[in-house]
Amino acid sequence: MSVSVAVIGSGPAGMYAVDGLLKSESGHDFEIDVIDRLPSPFGLIRAGVAPDHFKTRNTARQFMRTLDEEAVRYLGNVEVGRDLSYEELKANYDVVIFAIGAYNDRALGVPGEGLPGVYGACAFVGWYNGHPDYRDLDPLLDKGGVAVIGIGNVALDVSRLLAKTPSERDGSDICEHAEAAIAAAPLDTVYVFGRRGPNEAGFTPKELGEIRDLKRCAVKIDPAQLPDSVPDNIDGRVKGIKEKNLGILQDIAGQDKDLPVTMNMTFYASPIEVLGTDRVEGLRLERTNVVDGKATATGETFDIEVGAVVTAIGYHAVAPEGVPMDGGVIANDKGRVEDGVYCVGWCKRGPTGTIPTNGPDSREVVDLILEDISDGEKPGRDAIDALLAERGPRIVSWPEWQKIADEETARAAANRPRERFTRISEMLAVLD
Ligand code: NAP
Repeated sequence: MSVSVAVIGSGPAGMYAVDGLLKSESGHDFEIDVIDRLPSPFGLIRAGVAPDHFKTRNTARQFMRTLDEEAVRYLGNVEVGRDLSYEELKANYDVVIFAIGAYNDRALGVPGEGLPGVYGACAFVGWYNGHPDYRDLDPLLDKGGVAVIGIGNVALDVSRLLAKTPSERDGSDICEHAEAAIAAAPLDTVYVFGRRGPNEAGFTPKELGEIRDLKRCAVKIDPAQLPDSVPDNIDGRVKGIKEKNLGILQDIAGQDKDLPVTMNMTFYASPIEVLGTDRVEGLRLERTNVVDGKATATGETFDIEVGAVVTAIGYHAVAPEGVPMDGGVIANDKGRVEDGVYCVGWCKRGPTGTIPTNGPDSREVVDLILEDISDGEKPGRDAIDALLAERGPRIVSWPEWQKIADEETARAAANRPRERFTRISEMLAVLD
């Protein structure tokens, strides 16, 4: 009997796991259901990758071929926790793999964080990428200043998208509603704050290089904040990345450009309060020192005037009821959660790494699954289909999603690859 598998989440980690199972030479036949709460597949490739990072977006192509495989069935618009419970998954599939990502913003934990005008990167990026959950975010971009907290690649993605001219966003996948709002914003200053220094930053040279060369935006860095070198105790590949980063930062600090938008990149500054009464009016920060790798407070504070704050400080997972959690991830031992249940990707290891990082990570979990399983013994699709028929979600199949995607391409403006549907009802209207 074939082994029935449910993969919850169709982002890169889940799709690499599907691919790993299909390519395994274990002698098992697999019947794999890929379940996603949205009609659209591929998780962060659609909702998280920057709209102007075309090459990264193209990684979806390999996963399209995986969904074409006969053993694989896509169940879009089916939510575990709403349409199926964790207990039902365990009762009916031989193997359950959670690949639900970590799609929830971490909180800063400072006073004023709840004011209108503070957005987590998950929400802000989801908004410009047309994620249905954030379609109506309507961020307050009506003042000259925006602060971005964090010095990882997500912070640079957000800063770059804001600072580009409309023509620099030509050809990108940004949604119309976000393009219109960003193009109309009276932006003059983007502040980027890191609580530690350049050697501790999470960003990488490609993303840093992209902000150096913007048409309407001059990046300002205080040269006194840049170290002379990368410490010797950082090893190999990481050291190479840090050295390249440092070279680009020194290059930026040496530039003297005068352009309509300034991007002030400030290290060793940690937000301690969002200022304002009815909305964001400013941000109070405290200067830090890095001691034993950690940011420590100095007591010296300063304020800036901004109308919005975007926090790009990392994410945490939220799993369906009953799934054991350990802080911001699903409780697991190298991907094993409990009998027949596994997790991969950001919900397993936390929000680190690029899309390709998930390849080897998911394959390692597939190896554990292959060690653990015997023959298929649970009811699989028949029982699941009966439950779904009772509950009645409008399931979106892989061919149906392709029809919706074709419609997105057909309605694109001349300078865009597609115009996404940003509401589930609009996606379903293409089908029904
Ligand atoms: P990240 O690289 O971990 O950056 C998070 C940033 O937030 C760090 O600078 C961190 O500072 C800061 N931070 C955390 N808590 C804070 C707090 N309470 N106050 C102030 N600052 C705080 O993560 P990310 O940018 O969210 O990216 C997630 C992963 O996706 C990364 O592996 C990233 O490389 C990857 N990604 C890649 C690309 C790409 O390849 N183009 C694009 C986007 C994302 P500390 O270091 O001091 O904690």
